[in-house]
Amino acid sequence: MACSTDRIPARYRRGTGGPFTGLSRRGLLGLATAAAFASAGRAGAGAMPLQVAATTGMIADTARVIGGDSVSVRALMGPGIDPHSFRQTRSDIAALTRADLVLWHGLYLEAQMEDFLIRLGARQPVVAVGEAVPESLRIAHPDYAGRFDPHVWMVPDLWRHVADAIAGALSGARPDAARDVSRNARAFRADLDRLGGYAAETLATVPPEARVLVTAHDAFGYFGRAYGFEVEGIQGISTESEAGLARIGELVNMLVARGIRAVFVESTVSDRNIRALIEGAAARGHEVRIGGELFSDAMGQPGTYEGTYIGMIDHNMTTIARALGGQAPARGLNGLLAAGG
Ligand SMILES: [Zn+2]
Repeated sequence: MACSTDRIPARYRRGTGGPFTGLSRRGLLGLATAAAFASAGRAGAGAMPLQVAATTGMIADTARVIGGDSVSVRALMGPGIDPHSFRQTRSDIAALTRADLVLWHGLYLEAQMEDFLIRLGARQPVVAVGEAVPESLRIAHPDYAGRFDPHVWMVPDLWRHVADAIAGALSGARPDAARDVSRNARAFRADLDRLGGYAAETLATVPPEARVLVTAHDAFGYFGRAYGFEVEGIQGISTESEAGLARIGELVNMLVARGIRAVFVESTVSDRNIRALIEGAAARGHEVRIGGELFSDAMGQPGTYEGTYIGMIDHNMTTIARALGGQAPARGLNGLLAAGG
């Protein structure tokens, strides 16, 4: 397969240092988007792209990579947007009703939109792709019977089920593009495998006593289960409930007692509670620092590596490993991370 840098989609290029500085040829070949891009002009020649509306950026990016030229995807929620509290605007409603296919996450992630999306599904193709994760692999919600933790994107092996559901929905809506979709989906699965392998390898270098992840809300339950980390969110699985002082006090005690040195802020949640933890620990003579910002429920800026699903998760894995005393390359799996953890 021929592959040169001019075939890489602009969205993976960095603003400085030129495209793909430091990216090996092998790494380059591993990017599913290269395969998607190589199919340019072949998919459904002459046909209009399928208009897809997706709620989260993670779903939108996966649909773009797998759909290639046969789709045009719009994400409702941009960087920093909290899906637990997001409500559709009038222009979102217009985009959703005009779309040929609507992809949402489900599992009660879009809590404020759920009724609307279910009603919309009675009139047009609407698919809750997060619900493709088999029930046996889901984490039950601690407070509600029959509900589950929605944060399945945190683990590439789980996201594979969602990617397959997206591929199925795209092929169903555009049978003429099914061959390209299935080839792109295969390449994306290979990328997920590489990312999952990298995550397991780098996170295993974190000393066992330091495998405690403290974040603003409980977005990392699947991450913890997959990679053997204890996870503590100040708020619960949703951001809808306020954290109590008692919970903050409890976590300060834990940080001090166990000598935990880093906690993490999240891109979609205010850092107020995390700063309260740091101040609480400092008042007890224990220094805790911010280990970095994690992309919890939304990706980074469009046009950056962190603004893709692969880049978002690479950033999280690399930042966590490095902040908690493990070893990971500063610029991550593909040499593309911005800040170097
Ligand atoms: Zn969340």
